[in-house]
Amino acid sequence: MNEGAVRAELVDRAYSMFERGYSSGGAGNISARLEDGSFIITPTNSSFGDLEADSLSKLDAKGNWVSGDKPTKEVAMHLAMYRNRPTCHAIVHLHSPWLTALSCMPNLDRENCLPPLTPYYVMKIGRLPVVEYFPPGDDRISQEIDKLAKKHNSILLANHGPVVGGETLRQAFFNAEELEDTARLYLILLPHGFTTLNEVQVQELEKRYPRM
Ligand SMILES: [Zn+2]
Repeated sequence: MNEGAVRAELVDRAYSMFERGYSSGGAGNISARLEDGSFIITPTNSSFGDLEADSLSKLDAKGNWVSGDKPTKEVAMHLAMYRNRPTCHAIVHLHSPWLTALSCMPNLDRENCLPPLTPYYVMKIGRLPVVEYFPPGDDRISQEIDKLAKKHNSILLANHGPVVGGETLRQAFFNAEELEDTARLYLILLPHGFTTLNEVQVQELEKRYPRM
């Protein structure tokens, strides 16, 4: 996909998320890795609701800002994800309400904070590890992502929100939506109790539908 098409798709999908309440105000950021290894990323203080394709920040393959508006201060965590996941070509970072609520809960399992409630969660995400709280843009976030990203396409930042990768922009957004919906289900079910897929059922899915 050429750069113009990537820029247009990023703007359209961001707007759709804004309209559906996944991102309000200036929260969250999105990036895409182009075929030549360079990156497109949302600018600092931009909103998913009114991005402009021509103003998106462009970074070279090393992550240096080369054109467009100034990039988000959270750029390092995107780069950490990309350098550990060669198949990842897009990343969505949200402050979406259900996942952010989950990220604020006490005693989260740092290795996997969302149980295998549905097959689609297992097929798209699998497990959701948690990075302890650091201020947005802090180098320690990307250092922690470096440790986790080889094995995980999605990571939850404590008291902050999720970082979600995909092979394409479409896939990254689908993964982010699946993850937000799973967090929502989990929090709705918590007071009532729930069943999960068992280990054998999870393994069968992982064998049949290997994740990227
Ligand atoms: Zn953030």
